[in-house]
Formats: sequence, C-alpha cells, structure tokens
Amino acid sequence: QPSFTPELARRDVPILHRTVNGKPLVWLDNGATTHKPRQVIEAVSGFYGAGNSNIHRGAHTMAREATEAYEAGRAAVARFLGAGSPDEIVFARGTTEAINLVAQSWGRANLGPGDDILVPVLEHHSNIVPWQLVAKETRARVVPVPLRPDGQIDLDAYADRLSMRTRLVALSQASNVLGTVPPVKEMTALAHRYRAKVLVDGAQAVAHFPVDVADLDADFYVFSGHKLFAPTGIGALYAKPEILQTMAPWQGGGNMIESVSFDRTSYAPVPHLLEAGTGHIAGVVGLLAAINWLTGFDRPAVAAYETELLAYAQQALAAVPGLDLIGSAADRIAVLTFTMAGHDPGRIADWLDRDGIAVRAGHHCAQPALAHYGLESAARASLALYNTPEEVDQLVASLQRLQQSD
Ligand code: PMP
Repeated sequence: QPSFTPELARRDVPILHRTVNGKPLVWLDNGATTHKPRQVIEAVSGFYGAGNSNIHRGAHTMAREATEAYEAGRAAVARFLGAGSPDEIVFARGTTEAINLVAQSWGRANLGPGDDILVPVLEHHSNIVPWQLVAKETRARVVPVPLRPDGQIDLDAYADRLSMRTRLVALSQASNVLGTVPPVKEMTALAHRYRAKVLVDGAQAVAHFPVDVADLDADFYVFSGHKLFAPTGIGALYAKPEILQTMAPWQGGGNMIESVSFDRTSYAPVPHLLEAGTGHIAGVVGLLAAINWLTGFDRPAVAAYETELLAYAQQALAAVPGLDLIGSAADRIAVLTFTMAGHDPGRIADWLDRDGIAVRAGHHCAQPALAHYGLESAARASLALYNTPEEVDQLVASLQRLQQSD
C-alpha cells in the first residue's frame, strides 16, 4: 500500500469530482487556494454541529472542549513548522494579517529613520505593502532586492544591499508567481550576520514541502490555512520566543488582557496578547484536520511527485506554439506562469474555463515580479499533490485548440 499517490489524495477531496461548464473540473489554481479534503469539511461541520462554543470564557464543558480544540490546533501548527512550543504560534486570519501584525507590532517598535527593510522584487503585494506602510510611519526605507533573468533572487545584489542598517529581510520561501524557491536558509544566515531579522512568507511553501523554522533559523514565519487544504480566514505566525516576548499588542479587546480598569489595564502573555477578540475556532479545527491529512502522506514522496509533475508540465507546455513560460529557476514549486503570443491572459483563462480548467490570469498580486519581465499580466497554472499528468494533458490540449482557433 503506497503512502502517497495523487489518486489517494483525490479520493478525499469531493470538489475535484464536480463539473464546470459541463466538463470535469481541472483545478490548476492552487496558488490562489486549495480544495478541502472531507476530513477538513467534516471537522468544521462537526465543530458547528456538536462542539460549538467560545473559548477561554465561562467554565462549562463545551467552552473547555472548544479551548482544548483550539490549543490542540496551536500545538499542531507548532509541530508542523518545527517550532519549539505552541506558545510560539499566534493565530491570524492568514498570511496578510500575520505580516501586518509583525509590521505593526514589531516593526513600529524596532524601525526608525535610516533603517532598511530588504524585500525581493519577487514578493507578493502582501509582503511589500505592509512594509511600505510601516516604513512611512517610522521613516525607514523599503529596499528592493532585484531578480536574475531566471526569476531567482540575485544573491550578489542581496549581499550588497545588506548592511548594519538592515533591520529586516522579508522574503517568500516560494513565489506565487514564478514558483521560485530562494535559498532561504543561507539568506537568513547572511542577514543574521548584520543582526537583521528575517520574516519568511510560507504561503506558497507549506503545501509543497516540509518546513522547519528551527533549521531555517527564521525569526518570523507566516502562512495561510486556505493554501494548505484548510478553511479561509485562518493562518498563523511563528516568531522566535525571545522576539515574541518583546512584542506589544497591535489590536486591543477581549482575550488579550489580564484585567481591565480605567486606571490600569494589564495584559495576557503572548501568544494571547496578539490575538484580540474571538478567534476563528472552527478554522483552527479545520487547520488541524488539514495538517493531519497532509502529514498523513509520505511528504518526501509528495514533493518528489510534484517535482515530476512540474517537469512533465514544463515540457508539455513548452511544446505549445507561441507559449512562453515565465521564470526558469532550477529550485521551484509547481507553478507555471505563461503568456501566449496573440492571446490576452484573461482570454486564455476564459477559454480554459469553458473546458472546465481553472487557471488564474492577471498580475497575481506580484506586479514588481511581472514588471521584471516587462509584463502586466500572465496566465498561471499552479499544481498541487492531487493534480495528475492527465490534467496537464487537458490543459495543453485546450491551449493547442486555442492556438488553432484563429
Ligand atoms: N504571500 C504569498 C506568497 C501568497 O501567494 C499569498 C496568497 N496569494 C499571500 C502572501 C497572501 O495570502 P492571504 O491572501 O491568504 O493572506
């Protein structure tokens, strides 16, 4: 009995068996969001059907059960990321909110005039704009790190831009637009020589290969549940405990306090300090189920399969007349971004949609990365463990029909 095949994964994910426009769905938009296995759907529905309660308040059985479920989710995220303790995990709505949390809490306290935040041109807007906002407030600078022609970060330029003024390097472990996987561990080690902190955006990485924040030596690591087969609206921040301990609240409200009076309010310890208000309890329950589902497979086998599928797709797409694949870094996840001579990316996506094939077209919230190639828009097929070579064949056949249609 193999511990991973794409068919085993497909069997668990009901939505993959629906049709779109009369055709079996071919979901190649996993970079935008992933589909949910029934284990996740059942966990969320089971929570609302039998376990629903707020947490940490009121000493009744169901509040206790919900608290235990929420904290079990925190422990699962800590194990999943290789963190030292569940206390190093803060729940947030997703990658975007987690980055804004770091920018607003850590950034405001640690950035000042003349400080640099290094951000590769590769980054998603959510790993650029929060730094621009806090840089404006603190009079720090956001310094772009350029790309090489293949879409890998220019490591010489990175080394040049690092200095004792660098306070933070914010970079993705995998790019949503080019699939590039930079050498994060080496880049982190280099940043640490300048005593800069490193935030790693794991939004596109977590579903594809195992992550170990201790091995990376990342100071912050963020991801979104919905790109990891879990519900939307839940994600997490890992921070090194010695940094987390210094972080001030960024939102005020319930759950994050010890006691409140009009004379003096005292706060709960981290991670609760950074989780004001009622959290997405059902989301955490779903995230726990998603982590259990994914880690139930042989992950090296999953990664090897995805690498094989990527190579197959690269070859097959390269054979489509007029099709240009954008980015060719050797280290990458299975993201294929392309343009086709004579066809607007939006039109490509519409055409594929008529065949039941979902790809994304547009700027992919990474306008600087596309601008590096002189593009404003491109089409993107992003693969997951449940995609198959047959689905790649359908994509290619549909693109060939489009090419022949005029
Ligand atoms: N960073 C990267 C690399 C992403 O791919 C995404 C989602 N496309 C985000 C950040 C933002 O994630 P979310 O919208 O879930 O907050």
